[in-house]
Amino acid sequence: MPRRKMFLLGIQILLLTLCSSLSQGAPPADTIPSPSADPQIAAALKNISAQRIQQTIEKLVSFQSRHTLSSDQPASTGKGINAAAEWIKSEFESYSKACGGCLEVKTDEFTQEPGNRVPSPTKLTNVYAILRGSDPANASRIVLVTGHYDSRNSETNDATGASPGANDDGSGTAVSMECARVLSQYKFPATIIFLTVAGEEQGLYGSAHFAKLAKTQNWNIEAVLNNDIVGGDKTPGATTQDPRTVRVFSEGIPMSATETELKLIRSLGGENDGASRQLARYIASVSKEYLPARDFHPLVVFRRDRYLRGVDHTSFNEQGFAAVRFTEYRENYNHQHQNVRTENGVEYGDLPKFVDYNYVANVARLNAATLASLASAPAPPAKVRILTKALVNDSTLVWEASPGGLATGYLVLWRDTGAPDWERSQAFGNVTQATVPMSKDNVIFAVQATDAKGHRSLPVVPAPER
Ligand SMILES: [Zn+2]
Repeated sequence: MPRRKMFLLGIQILLLTLCSSLSQGAPPADTIPSPSADPQIAAALKNISAQRIQQTIEKLVSFQSRHTLSSDQPASTGKGINAAAEWIKSEFESYSKACGGCLEVKTDEFTQEPGNRVPSPTKLTNVYAILRGSDPANASRIVLVTGHYDSRNSETNDATGASPGANDDGSGTAVSMECARVLSQYKFPATIIFLTVAGEEQGLYGSAHFAKLAKTQNWNIEAVLNNDIVGGDKTPGATTQDPRTVRVFSEGIPMSATETELKLIRSLGGENDGASRQLARYIASVSKEYLPARDFHPLVVFRRDRYLRGVDHTSFNEQGFAAVRFTEYRENYNHQHQNVRTENGVEYGDLPKFVDYNYVANVARLNAATLASLASAPAPPAKVRILTKALVNDSTLVWEASPGGLATGYLVLWRDTGAPDWERSQAFGNVTQATVPMSKDNVIFAVQATDAKGHRSLPVVPAPER
């Protein structure tokens, strides 16, 4: 046979093989395909403004102290936490005005009974805005961003001394507010809540109250993004700061796991696959889609929080919600929980001049991209299980369709048990069962709902079904 004919025959055989493999349904396993960025989300991120964030932080600092115990000072004095709460509320209201009343602006006000760092009954106010989902079948799904607007200085209970709290946590408060300002210009099928809480410095009281409220009222919160100390401290000479990196802390084994769930985690090696860890991986994948890694990227830390520290996301973890904490790469302890002063030529205090506003804007972009991606995506598939009765080397996963009707397909993801992030995937159509030629004993699986535009839900790791 002439060479040319042989070549053509070879092509024909290749095409036939390709066609027959495609006609069998699922395409072959691939590395995780990178979805094309949603143009609406990309456009929204361009509106995040470092300048607006700076104005917000400077305004928060102007209240001199936002100490939780200053709540006996009337807002009319223009000082203290009540004045700050009123201002945050009025800002949310102005964003709402700019979108034709699209935000519901609310307060969650309660009296905190005396306890650790709260000597007498104290009024606490969480301030939040709701951007209700535009799709009635998905509006009950919620993603939430939060920061704490209370502040403190060297003395835990100094209610009136200067506590600028520019970085801790004016920065996180500004992230939540900037996400509200920008994302309220768009519509998303699911609901986004922009929260700012009080009481963090006294013992996570505000977030604990809000998370309990959400749990009691059966809110379907899919993800909580907590931002605390995201100012990217830029003290001159602090050479170990990395202005391109934000840490994302997440718990591995859920605080809320029951004894039965813990048994399953121990027996199957599920230590690294709690819902909060899936959220952290999701944030890393969103970052790759929307932010050039050379400029800015998350460092996913497989730890609930910094050593022996706890912040507001743990209040949500306790109630069983997936929640992570964003924080700057390197903290400067001279500029948090310090009285403003200079000692031996060293400046102490949490002042605006140490905040890197471009850095906070990047953190806000990553938060906004994650909120918008999740609020645009289908709900995660329900009741994901892996069949374990038959002793076979293939793995069959079954699930209930993603509720809300947005899903047009599913991705089965997997990775080696020792790998930190998802490595491979296989796409399936609008089905509720899939078999992949991999042994469930060798890898960790998850299922993700997808839509035609490339939005993806949070991945769900299957439970075993006998
Ligand atoms: Zn803080």
